[in-house]
Amino acid sequence: MELLDKHRLDLPAAAEGFYQLNGGNEAFACQLSLAEFHDFSADGILRWGTNLAVVKQVRSFAQFRNMATAHGVNTSWTNWHPYGKVIDDVFNVTPIMKLTLRKTKQEASDVFSFIFMQEGSLRWRAGQYLHYILNHPKPDGRGVERYFSIASAPHETQVMLTTRFAPKGSSFKKALKTLKPCDEIEVHEKGGDFVLDHRRKTFVFIAGGIGITPFRAILLDMERNRNPLNVQLLYANRDNDFPYRKELDALKKRHPEFRIDYVVSPNRFDEKTISKFVPDMDKPMFYVSGPEPMVESLDKILKKLGVSKKRVKNDFFPGYLWP
Ligand SMILES: Cc1cc2nc3c(=O)[nH]c(=O)nc-3n(C[C@H](O)[C@H](O)[C@H](O)COP(=O)(O)OP(=O)(O)OC[C@H]3O[C@@H](n4cnc5c(N)ncnc54)[C@H](O)[C@@H]3O)c2cc1C
Repeated sequence: MELLDKHRLDLPAAAEGFYQLNGGNEAFACQLSLAEFHDFSADGILRWGTNLAVVKQVRSFAQFRNMATAHGVNTSWTNWHPYGKVIDDVFNVTPIMKLTLRKTKQEASDVFSFIFMQEGSLRWRAGQYLHYILNHPKPDGRGVERYFSIASAPHETQVMLTTRFAPKGSSFKKALKTLKPCDEIEVHEKGGDFVLDHRRKTFVFIAGGIGITPFRAILLDMERNRNPLNVQLLYANRDNDFPYRKELDALKKRHPEFRIDYVVSPNRFDEKTISKFVPDMDKPMFYVSGPEPMVESLDKILKKLGVSKKRVKNDFFPGYLWP
């Protein structure tokens, strides 16, 4: 058996079926379908208890594994699945690494950065994200895993995660907030194509609130690589407390070609404001990052303004509202 490519498995039909994993007092089972393997979007049905009632549809093996892990079960596929080693490799079931918290930093009243040390082997491109797992007692329905953009540029080497804390936040965020220096968090996957397209010369970055995180990494990376910062940053926030504002203003001072327009709610980006801020819509590459509804709305606006799909890159942050 060998991997056809990075995402596909050549498994015999016999591998299809129902697998069960016992841990402590609980039994977990997952139904594997080869067709879904090939799509790299395998669905499993997670069941537990003596009657094996279907309790939750899970969207990925990683999710299945996380739920089982949250119940204290060792779910290495290698241990229990005949093709476990291959699945582990393909689905990154084993963590890429553990990151160790070095310090936290307040970026705005409800926004904090978590700066992690790494063993030195994690390489990323500015704008990419990491998939984190933070096991904690009694996780809520949103579970123990999240995606966060890497807010630090690769040359900073430390991984920075910046996030907003809601008053009634998830159990994940509560656990994150209580991390202390030297505590660890697991990283399971790195990815994303929200990275600079170097064939382009000018850029418009549109950020909604915490959607600024990948832009911090990209802008610092551009500076590090001595690229001119031919960037117009349109940055909207719920109030005047913009995360990274000091850093961005300092960057602007060092690079007069870099332009920032701050927009405070209830003002927002619509067709009129975008055309006012960006007089020449024909050339730049547009990058949009923020709450899902904002990114969807801007996608439509840019389309209306005649920007072709290939000149727009989107980064959606689920779990945040947009007024
Ligand atoms: C590629 C990628 C990169 C990302 N990068 C970042 C980043 O850099 N910084 C960042 O802060 N976030 C980022 N996100 C979003 C992040 O993964 C979380 O979804 C987000 O921070 C919300 O966190 P939370 O679910 O812990 O909710 P909280 O912030 O604690 O939630 C606030 C409230 O919203 C509710 N809620 C949250 N999600 C949902 C949902 N899906 N459906 C219904 N209600 C919900 C919660 O129950 C809670 O009441 C990124 C997401 C992706 C996919």
